[in-house]
Amino acid sequence: MELTLPDLQEKLKAWDGCGLAKNSNPVLGEGNFEADVMFIGEAPGAKEDELGRPFVGAAGKFLDELIGTMGWKREQVYISNVVKYRPPDNRDPTPEEKAECMPWLMLEIAIIKPKVIVPLGRHSLGHFFERLTISNAHGMPQKLTDDVTIFPIYHPAAALHNGNLRQSLLDDFAKLKAYLDEHNIEPPK
Ligand code: URA
Repeated sequence: MELTLPDLQEKLKAWDGCGLAKNSNPVLGEGNFEADVMFIGEAPGAKEDELGRPFVGAAGKFLDELIGTMGWKREQVYISNVVKYRPPDNRDPTPEEKAECMPWLMLEIAIIKPKVIVPLGRHSLGHFFERLTISNAHGMPQKLTDDVTIFPIYHPAAALHNGNLRQSLLDDFAKLKAYLDEHNIEPPK
């Protein structure tokens, strides 16, 4: 039987394989089942924990705005996180927490089959390319396989703390749009 995203949502609710699950709610990815572009952040924050949805706080509003600069809508991509539960006080997730949650992300990728994966920030980039740093790799597409390209971009929350990064994020989304156009990747209808 083929696994679907609603199945995954149900299974994640029943899972207690991550220590963070004791004190926070599961937050799976969400978005278009037909998406060719998948954004992957770090871990849910307070608002995401409260609503059980990814990127719905301040960083999420900025991400929506950035997606909008490409002429695309949030509903036309898939948005997820490496870690599925909120780390207390928004601390960085530990390597163990990232490893424990990784199978969920792998299943989401297997279901969605995106052509372009956009790791947002270093935690997500580190999963795909351990040796790349976000400051060197952002805005530069890296071929993972014949069918999948990794397009690293700074985490939108970073620009909320450091105003200088805002322009860098806008520039990288312009480069992402150019890449998508060049490869005839269009938003799902
Ligand atoms: N930051 C993330 O990395 N993910 C979210 O879902 C929200 C903020």
